[in-house]
Amino acid sequence: MAGMRSLLALCFMILAGPAWGWGSAGHRETGALAEAALRGTPAAAQVRRILGGESLASAAIWADCVKDPQRDPACSVFGVAEMAAFEQRNPGHRRWHYTDIAIQQDRYDERFTGARPDDVVHALQAAIARLQHRPVPAPFKFADGPAGEHEALRLLAHLVGDLHQPLHVGAIYLSPGGRALDPDRSGDDPDTHTAGGNLLIFDGGQQNLHALWDAAPPRPSRVASPRRPQGPLQAWPVDWAGETLLLARLAFEPLRFEAKTGKTWPLVFTDRRAYERQRLQAQARQVALAGLRMAELLKAIWSR
Ligand SMILES: [Zn+2]
Repeated sequence: MAGMRSLLALCFMILAGPAWGWGSAGHRETGALAEAALRGTPAAAQVRRILGGESLASAAIWADCVKDPQRDPACSVFGVAEMAAFEQRNPGHRRWHYTDIAIQQDRYDERFTGARPDDVVHALQAAIARLQHRPVPAPFKFADGPAGEHEALRLLAHLVGDLHQPLHVGAIYLSPGGRALDPDRSGDDPDTHTAGGNLLIFDGGQQNLHALWDAAPPRPSRVASPRRPQGPLQAWPVDWAGETLLLARLAFEPLRFEAKTGKTWPLVFTDRRAYERQRLQAQARQVALAGLRMAELLKAIWSR
């Protein structure tokens, strides 16, 4: 039995993975939904021109493959030299997948604790700028010519997904005793950082909250066409981050945190079944919403 249990634990770890951002299954779903929503539009022709034979579903996992090409067999379709060149040009690319806005805030603002010039909002803005042939801000460096467009579209396809994962946007900051703090009032202290939920553990430390939220649901739900954000395309990621931040409250508020031991805080679910139901619903909705929004964004980039 002990052997079986450790085998099951191992399977779960492989499926959930560390800090993988929706897992590749979720990212692939998002890309596939966007592709379906784009069919027959001018943007679809642009996507085909840039990606060649690569689908948006496949392109959507590339940014995670750059982090670890061994992580998923699906990464083997991507050129190793290409990924290495991107990584060399962009040594900080691992930090582009998330931001850490405190859940006490009700919107994304780059002046808030946890926002960075190289966070997921800024990285998505950089990818949009590259596809619009506008200047790309530091520290983002895309290749010259068509290769750079390809990198930017792959990055966009991935980051729209990450931006809809609540724990890639909203963060809880905790005192050593496990009390929620507002870092924009009390000041930022690295000891209060919970690393996107990676430091919040349960089931005797076998699991962490980030991995739980990364695990994609089996099927995205049907969602109504989302409204288009107001303003220029650069403002869209800010708008979406604000909405995901509000959802992140649902991920943290039903939990209680015990005192920090070592680097982690053990968490307690007030009602685990209710939490799981809400989580699966939220994930199914977010994966679907991200797909439709990715399509809207691509249509808007190539609207002229
Ligand atoms: Zn990611």
